Amino acid sequence: MTRVPTISFEFFPPKDEAGEAKLWETLERLAPYGPRFVSVTYGAGGSTRERTSRIVTRIKRESGLEPAAHLTCVGATCGEVDEVARGWWGAGIRHVVALRGDAPAGSGGYSPHPGGYANGAELTAGLRRIGDFEISVGAYPESHPDSASPEADMDNLKRKLDAGANRAITQYFFDAEVFLRFRDRCAAAGITAPIVPGVLPVTNFKKVVEFSAACGAAVPAWMADLFEGLDGDPETRQLVAASTASELCLALMAEGVEDFHFYTLNRPQLAAAICRRLGVRPELEAAA
Ligand SMILES: Cc1cc2nc3c(=O)[nH]c(=O)nc-3n(C[C@H](O)[C@H](O)[C@H](O)COP(=O)(O)OP(=O)(O)OC[C@H]3O[C@@H](n4cnc5c(N)ncnc54)[C@H](O)[C@@H]3O)c2cc1C
Repeated sequence: MTRVPTISFEFFPPKDEAGEAKLWETLERLAPYGPRFVSVTYGAGGSTRERTSRIVTRIKRESGLEPAAHLTCVGATCGEVDEVARGWWGAGIRHVVALRGDAPAGSGGYSPHPGGYANGAELTAGLRRIGDFEISVGAYPESHPDSASPEADMDNLKRKLDAGANRAITQYFFDAEVFLRFRDRCAAAGITAPIVPGVLPVTNFKKVVEFSAACGAAVPAWMADLFEGLDGDPETRQLVAASTASELCLALMAEGVEDFHFYTLNRPQLAAAICRRLGVRPELEAAA
């Protein structure tokens, strides 16, 4: 029998108070699904340092959820990054999603900050020196756009795990085969750490096409067909998003995948619907 999967949810720090109040409602609605952790992203170039810190600290203090704080290397010295991580350790945050980050748009590509951590592997090693954090890193089933080859990308993932990361969470992808082939390549490379698929339920197809071009994820032709003519029909797009993401997860579960990380975009309904379809029931219901 297929096991009920373990899940985690990802959120971004909202820009204003109204957004933050909505995020709090979202967290309350998703908490009963029992996520292993809830992660909060770190805005491009460290732009949300304060907000990310405030939200993960509040999650730790006021909810029963385990927060994971994303952290990037961009635009800061090692000392500045370490200071953020020490602050989190002091506030009881024990899980960091350690990332290189990206160059600001139009700046001509990533280059390390002078005196900063150069990449995810260096940041992971730095965090290990600060505290016994649980550390997740990024992985790219279709290879990172900056990597010279799939083999170089796999070596890079190994470096991050060898530096002390506990698991990798993948960039989103839309075909189960893409993940399954990547999982095989990880196993062949001797990687034993969990590789957790990152699942993005797609409602805004146009935006996903734009974003995917930058992050190296392929958007399959069947997905374009699925969303064709739905630009003015957000309700139907929601239903399509829930069923498509559920089918992807079910296909992966049939191949033994037991963990999923959901990119929620701060909206609870889709993540909740998919969880239910995968057999993850709210704890209150399960106890009733
Ligand atoms: C689960 C997840 C969460 C994310 N959350 C955020 C977030 O909160 N904020 C944000 O800004 N971004 C986030 N990102 C995006 C991420 O910052 C970008 O994808 C970034 O381009 C790569 O980060 P990384 O840590 O995976 O990079 P790294 O693994 O450090 O490097 C990426 C690529 O750079 C090259 N590279 C690195 N080191 C070397 C080396 N020594 N020699 C040669 N080549 C090298 C390799 O090709 C490698 O594949 C997230 C990504 C994922 C998958």
